[in-house]
Amino acid sequence: MHKEMLEKACVEAADDWPQLPPAAEAGARLEAVDTPSLLLELDAFEENLRTMQALVERHDVGLRAHAKAHKCPEVARRQVALGAVGICCQKVSEAFPFARAGIHDILISNEVIGPAKVAMAAELARRTRLSVCIDSLAGARALSDALVAVDARATVLVEVDVGHHRCGIAQPAEAVALAQAAQALPMLSFGGIQAYHGTLQHKRSSEQRRQACDQVAARVRRFLAAFQAAGLPCPVVSGGGTGTAAFDAASGVFTEIQAGSYAFMDVDYAANDWAQTPTFKHSLFVLATVISTPTPDRAVLDAGLKSLSAESGLPRLHDTPGWRCIGISDEHTVLSREPDGAPLELGSKVRLVPSHVDPTFNLHDQLVVVRHGQVHALWPVAARGLSR
Ligand SMILES: *Cc1c(COP(=O)(O)O)cnc(C)c1O
Repeated sequence: MHKEMLEKACVEAADDWPQLPPAAEAGARLEAVDTPSLLLELDAFEENLRTMQALVERHDVGLRAHAKAHKCPEVARRQVALGAVGICCQKVSEAFPFARAGIHDILISNEVIGPAKVAMAAELARRTRLSVCIDSLAGARALSDALVAVDARATVLVEVDVGHHRCGIAQPAEAVALAQAAQALPMLSFGGIQAYHGTLQHKRSSEQRRQACDQVAARVRRFLAAFQAAGLPCPVVSGGGTGTAAFDAASGVFTEIQAGSYAFMDVDYAANDWAQTPTFKHSLFVLATVISTPTPDRAVLDAGLKSLSAESGLPRLHDTPGWRCIGISDEHTVLSREPDGAPLELGSKVRLVPSHVDPTFNLHDQLVVVRHGQVHALWPVAARGLSR
């Protein structure tokens, strides 16, 4: 067949194809939701938002909730409605759906490097109040040039290394020098510092986290002293995450806390000891169907690595006593029965708690929002896949 005819035939055939039915519809019972689906239990989610907001308010600091955890503007809108000062995004492209949804104060909590990226950041700065982390003069200059080109302003936070050893400047004198140089560049204002320590978040012992946060606070104070000695005001100190929020908020050095996962609480964070601080509830689940029961002691689910990330370990079953996850592959999770487990019926649905929230969200187009066993709404994970 001629190539054009073949293409036309394909298009016509495609038009004949039925649309896939939606996995879930607002108002439906939870039992009618197809699997695998990413579920948000609204009651637990809202309680988590209130817990964190109350925590930061007790210490008179702001919450700049991290949106890389969920990539969902509807989530951010609820955080801001409860009092969050704004959000963080880790990538410039990720910030676009949030800005479009009306989130007006966004920190890119990361370095923005390369002509394509700074041009995108400048476009964003035309439309929203934008802050960006810097740890190099070259990065600051390129950002300034891109802002000049579109006649927009942005705030920069100098990222400092308080022990995480990822990005950031370790020496206070160098941080001050970069801040002064950035402040002198067109369209940039120096806003303060970002002092984030990622690996501390998952230190299991609450006492160890507290002590490590004391050390972080001491390092931040050395930076603040250097800014003060140079006569350069440093109004913002941004940092902290779910695991250290309570200690960082109480430290007296942070002005805003960047926690993100707290709203959902994954298996990894649940393994922390929360003895000294408020804790959070599981609100995020992957709903999965038992598609095979090859032996009485084994059941297999229809959700695997394309529905849940596993780099932080296996997901955990919720509300299915007597069974546990023992393996995960592309499209399957394998469950094993404990001596006290009742048989699992073929076709029944179970909930899995993801081991790590952030990459799990990135695998889903929508969040099926549930209250009291009923689908309340479907929220697009609008920034999913946006990692530029
Ligand atoms: C991921 C991240 C956070 C939030 O961490 P959670 O563990 O999700 O609370 C905060 N700040 C920065 C810079 C991050 O990369």
